[in-house]
Amino acid sequence: MRASWVFSVAVTLLLGSVGIGKTQEKEKSAPKKIAVRAGRLIDGKSDTPTANVLILVENDRIVSVSAGGAAPAGVEVLDLSKATVLPGFVDAHTHLLLNGDITSEDYDVQLLKQSIPYRAILSARNARIALEHGFTAMRDLETEGAMYADVDIKNAIANGEVPGPRMQVATRAMTPTGMYPLLGYSWELQVPKGVQYVDGVDSARKAVREQVMYGADWIKYYSDRRYHFEADGVLHSMVNFTDEEAKAIVDETHRLGKKVAAHAIGSDGIAAALRAGVDTIEHGDGLTDALIDEIARKGVYWVPTITVGAYVAPGRGGNWTKMVDLEKAAFQKALKKNVKIALGTDAGGFDWKEVNQAKEFEYYVAYGMTPMQAIRSGTVVPAELLGWSDKIGTIELGKWADIVAVAGDPLKDITELEHVKFVMKGGVVYKNEIH
Ligand SMILES: [Zn+2]
Repeated sequence: MRASWVFSVAVTLLLGSVGIGKTQEKEKSAPKKIAVRAGRLIDGKSDTPTANVLILVENDRIVSVSAGGAAPAGVEVLDLSKATVLPGFVDAHTHLLLNGDITSEDYDVQLLKQSIPYRAILSARNARIALEHGFTAMRDLETEGAMYADVDIKNAIANGEVPGPRMQVATRAMTPTGMYPLLGYSWELQVPKGVQYVDGVDSARKAVREQVMYGADWIKYYSDRRYHFEADGVLHSMVNFTDEEAKAIVDETHRLGKKVAAHAIGSDGIAAALRAGVDTIEHGDGLTDALIDEIARKGVYWVPTITVGAYVAPGRGGNWTKMVDLEKAAFQKALKKNVKIALGTDAGGFDWKEVNQAKEFEYYVAYGMTPMQAIRSGTVVPAELLGWSDKIGTIELGKWADIVAVAGDPLKDITELEHVKFVMKGGVVYKNEIH
């Protein structure tokens, strides 16, 4: 055994040096071909589904999509002829490093009693849950005190070490000093912070540079806090940064070729974020008619995260219940004005094990989208938000083979998307319960 091993290594080295080894290597890694037979295909592009479609996958890409026909000889066929096949889902707002925070105590405990390595291990579990629910890409919008651990989970997934969606990450997020928990502890204690505190224009630019240096794809900042209704019936808020600071964050981020997401719930926070020139508005409960016009005109994406609002409202009470109703009204107006609505759930704000993030689709349909609009909102639109329109979001020639399937027809019952039976990411099958 040993002698033959030494011999084969020697031969490989020898052949490698004259260029023959390389040819052998190529033969060994001949493209892996899989044919997926889809009973019904919602490709993310067409307005109507297509029946009986054959999708050919070579390695990690889709190489053809054709009506019916036989698979090429010798190619493995995955029979999804009784299922509805769709592009992998994309969630534009998650927190892999958080596991539910209805109360501030839920939040504090995670930062005070769990180490960052422990939280990172849970984040790998959460990434697998997301993938098995059909989410093949996600934008993770800050680690909530876990520093740059989102970059690590993103890399571990990309390197094939753990299963999970393709990720873009925002690392630490920013507020001015004292505007984000942990708060309320004795000044004698050094407690962890859920964000990076940033004060002043220079410090804002430096924080952006630092976060980008450590792997941030996005910069996230908290535009506001202290949400409250005033006599005008509008949801107002306290704006965190001065306009100069917010503009410095946005300008520096764009200068470095990255994009900015702003947490903005009250109308004042949304208005400030739009003035600063952010790329996406997160939550946006307090969108007024004028702000809806502005967000539409500027082509800024709105990521509504309805699942988390509905989930935390009963536990938090007070204004939170009213905010859910307010957001529903804003959603219906924004839909009429063609605002770019990208599906985002704030998963992590609710426990990954308790709620399937695909529930967000259900809310969008209940709030007035057609099932097809809701599907696009969770595939094509967030793909565009991520700058990955050429790679994901539809089932088309040349795209990454990120393909999911459900047993029933989601155009008749959108909750089908909460029961994904088949998941392929980059040509690799992670789940197949279709029989
Ligand atoms: Zn969030």
